[in-house]
Amino acid sequence: MNDNSTLRVNQQRLWDSLMQMAEIGATNKGGCNRQALTGLDKQARDLFVCNCRQLGCDILIDEIGNIFARRPGKNNQLPAVITGSHLDTQPTGGKFDGVYGVLAGLEILRVLTEHRIETEHPIEVIVWTNEEGSRFSPACMGSGVWSGNLALHDTYQTMDKEGLTVGDELKRIGYKGNLSATPRPIKAAFEAHIEQGPILEKQHKQIGIVTGIQGLRWYELTLGGMPCHAGPTPMEDRKDPVQAMLPILQFCYQLATDNGPWGRATIGDIQALPGSPNTVPETLKINIDLRHPQANVVADMADKLALKVIECCKEHEVTHQLQETWRMEVTNFAPQCISAVTSAVESLGYPHMEIVSGAGHDSLYVAQQVPTSMIFVPCEGGLSHNEAENAQSDDLAAGANVLLQAILQQAY
Ligand SMILES: [Zn+2]
Repeated sequence: MNDNSTLRVNQQRLWDSLMQMAEIGATNKGGCNRQALTGLDKQARDLFVCNCRQLGCDILIDEIGNIFARRPGKNNQLPAVITGSHLDTQPTGGKFDGVYGVLAGLEILRVLTEHRIETEHPIEVIVWTNEEGSRFSPACMGSGVWSGNLALHDTYQTMDKEGLTVGDELKRIGYKGNLSATPRPIKAAFEAHIEQGPILEKQHKQIGIVTGIQGLRWYELTLGGMPCHAGPTPMEDRKDPVQAMLPILQFCYQLATDNGPWGRATIGDIQALPGSPNTVPETLKINIDLRHPQANVVADMADKLALKVIECCKEHEVTHQLQETWRMEVTNFAPQCISAVTSAVESLGYPHMEIVSGAGHDSLYVAQQVPTSMIFVPCEGGLSHNEAENAQSDDLAAGANVLLQAILQQAY
């Protein structure tokens, strides 16, 4: 039985470790620029590894540079309980995105060690390689290879803007390991993360019990009209793709509100060609991002958009091509892990709510292989991927306490 229900993380120590890590790649606006596989990423990894070695953990590094700090259990034949996130940041990133999940895991190892607690199952704290995808695309590279979504050899060849490859940079910083980048037996996986959105703060909740990750569809919509002179051509004689675009875009936002509160529509890029102020454009290229946490709703939004495109283009005598360029299926986290988090939150008494992640995380790939869930804590103004990203020490400690109790429940 787990009689460690009174066990708590050391709030000050957790905060101090976050601030210490934030010095590596600190920007003068108070954020971090610690991109994947740079010298700064190496420093951050070395600090984590050194801290875990001091606690007696075994350090395993796989072929794509994922780090596994393994705290043995009483029975090491049993599958591990894992937690982790990432140490790399955006070029203008903050101090908490990803780092919090890793250092909350480290704090848990410290608490268990100082209280001489032995768990039945081994516990592993993981640093996933290149979650951000800002230097090397795509994002979630380490967990993507590990889960079989990305091929290792192709990933090694991926280049940054300077022409340096993932494989060479891994070797240069000393994190190209020998361990096969595939899942070993795992009982449960948890990831603590700042929310990166405003919902918990607005609802005055300290903990988000994350039940899944939104599904997403990306489209490139190409509309073709007839270029003509802005002056002499009467309005009724035009085939103007902008006229067709306007109701389509309006409809995208309508889809999001009709499927509220979780529906999302984003038009992030619109390009008019040839792009001349006094010519009706020949071509418009529009990028559309649709999201929702329920698979049937995402599919329905996609179907309705396709019909609307046909209708509007017919009305304005414009040609169209609606191409899906990327999709991410809806992730539903495992009931076993959601309930471990829920009972931990309830026993700790923190204000909480269930929430769906709007952003992708390593847990998306991890969840394809092993039972997984996440724990969110609020961040100031919902701001993330920003140097001003901030979170409260109380909230960070609360999230780490939930993580601690959920891990103990699964590892005992
Ligand atoms: Zn992150």
